[in-house]
Amino acid sequence: MTKRYTDFHLQPIAGEWREGSSERRTRVTNPYDGSELLDIRLADSHDLDAAFLAAEKAQAEWAAIPPAERSAVLQRAVEIFDARKEEIIDWLIRESGSTRLKANVEWGAARGITLEAASMPGRVHGMTLASNVPGKENRVYRKPLGVVGVISPWNFPLHLSQRSVAPALALGNAVVIKPASDTPVTGGLLLAKVFEEAGLPSGLLSVVVGAGSEIGDAFVEHRVPRMISFTGSTPVGRRIGAICSGGEHIKKVALELGGNSPFVVLDDADLDQAVNAAAMGKFLHQGQICMAVNRIIVDASRYDEFAERFVAKVKGLAVGDPDDMATVVGPVINAKQREGLEVKIATAKQEGATVLLDGEIDGQLVPPHVFGDVTPDMEISREEIFGPLVGIQKARDEAHALELANGTEYGLSSAVFSGDLARGARFAQAIKAGMTHVNDMPVNDEAHVPFGGEKNSGLGRFNGDWAIEEFTTDHWISVQHTPRGYPF
Ligand code: NAD
Repeated sequence: MTKRYTDFHLQPIAGEWREGSSERRTRVTNPYDGSELLDIRLADSHDLDAAFLAAEKAQAEWAAIPPAERSAVLQRAVEIFDARKEEIIDWLIRESGSTRLKANVEWGAARGITLEAASMPGRVHGMTLASNVPGKENRVYRKPLGVVGVISPWNFPLHLSQRSVAPALALGNAVVIKPASDTPVTGGLLLAKVFEEAGLPSGLLSVVVGAGSEIGDAFVEHRVPRMISFTGSTPVGRRIGAICSGGEHIKKVALELGGNSPFVVLDDADLDQAVNAAAMGKFLHQGQICMAVNRIIVDASRYDEFAERFVAKVKGLAVGDPDDMATVVGPVINAKQREGLEVKIATAKQEGATVLLDGEIDGQLVPPHVFGDVTPDMEISREEIFGPLVGIQKARDEAHALELANGTEYGLSSAVFSGDLARGARFAQAIKAGMTHVNDMPVNDEAHVPFGGEKNSGLGRFNGDWAIEEFTTDHWISVQHTPRGYPF
């Protein structure tokens, strides 16, 4: 039997597992029962510096090895994902409050992008272009960026780190990860163990566990990383984008930010399917997903019927211990998130939303809340909820449904239900978002299909060929075969 990984109080910094050097420590706790999982001494800016310098040193050699050898490391990582499936799932449940279902989904997504990345070394290609200059040949080489800094959130920590880490490494880059403080193991340390076991050369992947407020700016501003791949909230993303494009060191940035997904039910929709999709798209991982259903918009002619069936469905969802197979809604990540949701519930009531379903909050367990008669000006419509609450809005007709769907600063994912697929696809085309799903929930991610947002939901695309584009850069090299004639 495979021996479980140990010593997660240490961090892999510049090729060595050791404690951070900060005076500050962090207690990592189980969101369900508050039990302590780890006590970690945090990394400081010196650790960060060591990690980036070691990465810079290791990267050149890694980029030069044959693509098949880089691919083999990724393939071994996939095998380790399989061999350690239960161990990984156990960490996702205990550290991030994932239900068994969500932990399985996340394990599958992280494994999927690792497998996809294993094929990337052989897929990178340059091109030649004709030249307007006599005797010149234009070559375009596709090269790794160098060192990539990855910052990830706590909600799908394993997958959201790995969707940058695996392609970046596969394509010949080195990586330093800064995981969220709530999820240092699943957001980084566990991945470092997997890659170490898979034979990744030392120093190529470091993890620095530190508070965003203490080392966040230093991480982004550091000279070495040529790219920052950030997944998290829009306010933090704005700041990171500003540093990358206006700071001392200009660098590439990928921003995968917040969402406010509309879930539209047109008058000809199959309500059974729509209700099931809305429930899954809203309550998977307690609604703490960037693509989660944030606003349900229903044609007025089907509003009462939908609301009644949706509430009946949601009432039956089991709330409780995420380790229990039957649980659908587990704990929210921490007390701060719970307090924010309490405020959102109070505000929805104050603003005149009708309570269709509520329940008692117990510790970090927030039972599903459903509000009716919600209008676009209410906070629950305007803001990203990131919890198990949802409001239902009434649309006069299809045009009004579209206006409501697009009435947001965000543009990540979205969904529309219609009995007429051509109508659904037409409606989808008019939604301003990076992703729209016809007759399905907005929560979808496939390792070979472009993932990303429009408007304030971010910049750039992950997965497949789009990740190859993100984590490499072009180098134009022209070769003058015959002496060029110059005018002076
Ligand atoms: P967050 O923005 O608070 O934190 C994300 C990460 O940034 C964490 O690792 C945090 O430590 C770090 N950070 C915080 N301040 C920083 C700073 N000044 N400099 C550098 N790093 C800093 O987000 P969160 O609460 O962890 O996650 C929830 C948010 O993430 C939601 O808005 C959600 O929609 C979004 N999200 C987006 C996607 C996507 O793919 N678009 C996926 C998941 C989550």
